[in-house]
Amino acid sequence: MFWANGNLHAFTSAQWEALCDRCGLCCLEKLTDRKTGKVYYTSVPCRLLDIRTGACRAYHRRTLLIPSCQQLTAATITACRWLPRSCAYRRLAEGRALPTWHPLVCGDDDAVHREGLSVRSLVLRKVPPETSDLSAYIIDWGIWGRWRRPKGKRGSPRTCMRPNRD
Ligand code: SF4
Repeated sequence: MFWANGNLHAFTSAQWEALCDRCGLCCLEKLTDRKTGKVYYTSVPCRLLDIRTGACRAYHRRTLLIPSCQQLTAATITACRWLPRSCAYRRLAEGRALPTWHPLVCGDDDAVHREGLSVRSLVLRKVPPETSDLSAYIIDWGIWGRWRRPKGKRGSPRTCMRPNRD
């Protein structure tokens, strides 16, 4: 129960890595509104994301291959407000406990997927290579904890999951 005291700075690198539940949600492409700073998730996965496992297919080279990839650390985690509320790092940084479906708690790596809280549950979109505008692919965390299309935004997020659930 190394995670119980919630002190992210005290974790070894192995413990830090074990905290990730492999939901893969942080590996969806995101857009930032320049005026408000609000971050919008899209239904477009990073090209390195393995949808089945929720893991990066080039984890140790990811920042080389994808320069915009942000490395999460104990020092930067509180600034990463764009992480989904279900993310284990965000939970601990906000003083919340890990959920019952987290692999460290239940010992089952597939529980996060069965709960519908990973990219495996999403209808992800393939974007034509010539497309640079991802605004048509924006999705949002709904007030009921389900994906919904933000008002005034185009696109059709045909997805159903509950990332806001505690
Ligand atoms: S959102 Fe958090 S728990 Fe999920 S894959 Fe990303 S870092 Fe891991």
